[in-house]
Amino acid sequence: MKKIVLGNWKSLGDTASNAVLLAALAAHPPAAGVEVGVCVPFPFLTQARAVLEGTAIGWGAQNVSPFGAGAYTGEVHAGMLAEFGCRYALVGHSERRQLFAETDERIADKIDRLLAANVRPVVCVGETLAEREAGGWRETLGRQVAALAARLGPEKLSRAWFAYEPVWAIGTGRVAAPADIAEAHAFLRERLMALGVPAEEVVILYGGSVKADNAQGVFAVPGCDGALVGAASRVVEEFIAIVAAA
Ligand code: PGA
Repeated sequence: MKKIVLGNWKSLGDTASNAVLLAALAAHPPAAGVEVGVCVPFPFLTQARAVLEGTAIGWGAQNVSPFGAGAYTGEVHAGMLAEFGCRYALVGHSERRQLFAETDERIADKIDRLLAANVRPVVCVGETLAEREAGGWRETLGRQVAALAARLGPEKLSRAWFAYEPVWAIGTGRVAAPADIAEAHAFLRERLMALGVPAEEVVILYGGSVKADNAQGVFAVPGCDGALVGAASRVVEEFIAIVAAA
């Protein structure tokens, strides 16, 4: 199965530094069987499109409105992402769950909107450090996917991609051990299967402190379809090396 590498720029970047990064990506096309994309802040979607259009590299957003077009001040709806050529949008990142109080219901609505607009939802799930230390990571992952399935049903959920992102590994330099990634991915597939999703075909990425020096280990994990890369996706040589390791 192909490997997927997605960058998550978070709320970082400016026109000048993006130009350098995007030009470098365009100049290093991924190998056959590797899909690469960058999820950028909304104002930079046009810039990403201008540089990446016609290359093999996709672009996308990091969030979307749970509503459609209308009187929703401050929101960007899925149809707008589609118009700007977004191949993907992240949904339910832990930073949004924690800092912006996103609920599973809202996340499900965002997935629904994206699917209707033909933009791939990349749904982030993962446990906190406290939950892992208390041995409750399965419960957290199980709860997160069950809540989505309850609102969306298995057919819709099967069209989303997932990213297992343990919260304690995000931005900490503490990448999860390959055995832990393998176990969590297998558990997610098992839960999705139990919810009626044909999970052997579902894409599940890993995210959390993926860097050039640990990427190979992450890609080698059985059942891991690729990586969602935060900080290292903003560093030209790091991201290119991660893509090359896929
Ligand atoms: P990180 O972030 O690679 O900086 O840990 C990953 C993410 O938040 O998606």
